[in-house]
Amino acid sequence: MKKDSAPKLVIVGSIGIDTIETPREKRVEILGGSVSYACAAASFFVKTGMVGVVGTDFPSEHRNLWKKMGIDLAGLQTEEGKTFRWSGVYEANMDNRRTLLTELNVFERFTPELPEAYRDAPYLFLGNIAPELQLHVLEQVRSPKFVLIDTMDLWINIAREKLVQVVGKCDMLTLNESEARLFTGEHSLMDAAKALLAMGPRFVLIKKGASGSMLFSKTGIFLLHAFPLADFKDPTGAGDTFAGGLMGALAESGGTGETEIRRAMLYGSVTAAFGVEEFSLERLAVLDRKQIEARAKMLRSMCAIN
Ligand code: AMP
Repeated sequence: MKKDSAPKLVIVGSIGIDTIETPREKRVEILGGSVSYACAAASFFVKTGMVGVVGTDFPSEHRNLWKKMGIDLAGLQTEEGKTFRWSGVYEANMDNRRTLLTELNVFERFTPELPEAYRDAPYLFLGNIAPELQLHVLEQVRSPKFVLIDTMDLWINIAREKLVQVVGKCDMLTLNESEARLFTGEHSLMDAAKALLAMGPRFVLIKKGASGSMLFSKTGIFLLHAFPLADFKDPTGAGDTFAGGLMGALAESGGTGETEIRRAMLYGSVTAAFGVEEFSLERLAVLDRKQIEARAKMLRSMCAIN
């Protein structure tokens, strides 16, 4: 691969075949996984490289969709066996979700290996995988300008020490409010963010679902409400879509400061709002930059105070 065609953003995470039940609809064996949502969102902004694993059963139509979206697949591994399966059911209010099945399959033996062309990528998003694998990725990149890390309750509970270690090497940590409380033992999000910043990252981004997100740094706080939607179909992967859109927009800007991150959050929020309108990548697959810009303008004006 030519140097100038190397991805500007690399994203590592899970690839799943999901079965999802909402009060209105059940969808069986659809494309999911943190890296799938995040790369799809980021691909509207910059060339994005995917690092993940699928089994030999993985449908070629999903791979073709990623290619159509312009995602670089040089970091996608195919291993003998079945792709990771996940299944969840949403309660009537769509806020609470119960996991029905997690079948790791090839994901259990996943060791992320970055192709040579990915190792100089200036922007890196360590999606939700085991902290020791996130560390393994960090060891392979040469001098990234900005690294975002995501995690989940599982790793906070079973691999806390490694997680603290890897968080300390990243520029920004993103997690949802219950995870921030679990990780720090602090109920107040202000106190939780302070404890998380003390682990080393320059920024902590706490996600609050449809209520939006809060960016904390040593010098202040920025609040952004989610783009208000009258209706949505499936919130699965919304956090990954938000983070992917944010990192794509940040990489496109070339910056790493608070001003650029605030603007990138706006794009993350808008991209996630499109993503939840349909299951899987179905809405993102037919989305274009013009539609993103139109909603970004609307969200900006909804937040403006003079
Ligand atoms: P989220 O809605 O942010 O929790 O992300 C949901 C996506 O994460 C689904 O598409 C699943 O395939 C994937 N997923 C579910 N459980 C796990 C897990 N334990 N590790 C990695 N990815 C997972």
